[in-house]
Amino acid sequence: MDSVKETDVVVVGGGLSGLFAALTLRNAGHEVVVLEARNRVGGLTYSPMSKVLAARVDLGGQWAAVRHKRISALIAKYNVPLTQQFVRGERACLQDDRTFYGAMGTVPGLSEKEAAEYKQGLKRLYDAMDKIAEDPWESADARDLDSMTFATWVDQEPTGPRARASFFRMPGAYYGALAEEISALELIHKLKSCGGPLWMSDAVEGGQSRHMMGSQMVSEGMARELGDAVKPSSPVRRITTAGERVTVEAEAGTWKCKYVVCATSPAMISQISFDPPLPAKRRLLHQRFANGRNTKAVIIYEKPFWRARGLNGNVIATDGSLTAAYDLGGENPDRGILITLFTGTPAYRMDELAPEQRKQRVLGLLAQALGEEALKPAEYMDQVWADEPWSGGASSPFMLPGAMTTIGPELREPCGPIYWAGTHMSKEFRGYMEGALSAAENAAERISERLRRGAGQA
Ligand SMILES: Cc1cc2nc3c(=O)[nH]c(=O)nc-3n(C[C@H](O)[C@H](O)[C@H](O)COP(=O)(O)OP(=O)(O)OC[C@H]3O[C@@H](n4cnc5c(N)ncnc54)[C@H](O)[C@@H]3O)c2cc1C
Repeated sequence: MDSVKETDVVVVGGGLSGLFAALTLRNAGHEVVVLEARNRVGGLTYSPMSKVLAARVDLGGQWAAVRHKRISALIAKYNVPLTQQFVRGERACLQDDRTFYGAMGTVPGLSEKEAAEYKQGLKRLYDAMDKIAEDPWESADARDLDSMTFATWVDQEPTGPRARASFFRMPGAYYGALAEEISALELIHKLKSCGGPLWMSDAVEGGQSRHMMGSQMVSEGMARELGDAVKPSSPVRRITTAGERVTVEAEAGTWKCKYVVCATSPAMISQISFDPPLPAKRRLLHQRFANGRNTKAVIIYEKPFWRARGLNGNVIATDGSLTAAYDLGGENPDRGILITLFTGTPAYRMDELAPEQRKQRVLGLLAQALGEEALKPAEYMDQVWADEPWSGGASSPFMLPGAMTTIGPELREPCGPIYWAGTHMSKEFRGYMEGALSAAENAAERISERLRRGAGQA
């Protein structure tokens, strides 16, 4: 079989995690090949060109906080444009046919009673986060929390509908999940390990304080360094382990190697055929790791017209119509640049619409929040991540009730020579770009150590 090539490690998936794992292994002196299904690298970071701006815009991940050390270092290394989030002015909050305006960090239009309920709910959430262990299945009340959805947990202390909606929004914002489907343990653990919801949504100093314009450039930079080792348009179909050797069959050819890093979402791993099959618990884990829904739009205007009205372009909703909109134009933009996010419940309402209806819905909501000028954009583009065959959803895989306490402990364990990466594997900043890099580093260092010692499989 002349066409079978040899390498130390095959990485499945050329998103941030796969590429960073490959680079870490290469820098440690090992031979790697990255097999990527799409004809581009970057996975959930995708930055097409805007014709009007003549610059890249982001239909996937793009905010990166200072605290996200690994991604921040790569942004600097590859000179990816990074902009401080524009926040001057009021935000808007949609509730059916009404729009409320108020300060960032608040839910505009809440009555005094609703605001007190929201504050009390946040305190309850932070108290619950305090009790969660680093490995969540080790928490004292792990079984209780994992036996219910986040919706059930929120409803244990009934609140009015608008305060309730502010909590139901969280699984969508951070996973693309519905409150009615995600394990309460999974969500509360994630909130804790990612800095807490107040920091995560803080657009001044926290998780949404800086955004790239062209986040895919990070992956492109890593792919450039890796050169010929990156094989796009190469979906992996089959992984066969025999003794100390693994054979990886992909569209681009067949490789024999010592180790494999699978850096795709669990739903995508389930589409690969493993011989021998993965252990039953691992297969169950992949099935109980669901994908959420996330639909993002980028809308360019001649001018950021909302700023003249004292608005900062940030829109939220307590009626489930949209997750958020942000002004990404920075301090002195030539054009108005907005993005909208529809995640979880709002995405379910959006995703079934035909493209033109979807566009009209986005523009209609922006017009309600910011003014009629929103109906006349210079450019519009969107991406329904649930329809992307090599992602199958976004923004991050999440566990269904019952999974974390029963099969969660298997999460980071390799299956012989097959190691796992991808943002869902990370101990810190799970679901973020930073989490993708952290999980990659962990898998690469473990493999590198074994290769250095000439050790057999785990
Ligand atoms: C709309 C949106 C907004 C987001 N916002 C932010 C944000 O602001 N900040 C932030 O930090 N994060 C954000 N995220 C999340 C962030 O983008 C992801 O956490 C991160 O990019 C995941 O990287 P990954 O490498 O783990 O996975 P992926 O990007 O999913 O990469 C997996 C790769 O594997 C490939 N693949 C799948 N199956 C196969 C196969 N069989 N063979 C070969 N290749 C395969 C896929 O094509 C893909 O390229 C957002 C995501 C979305 C979608």
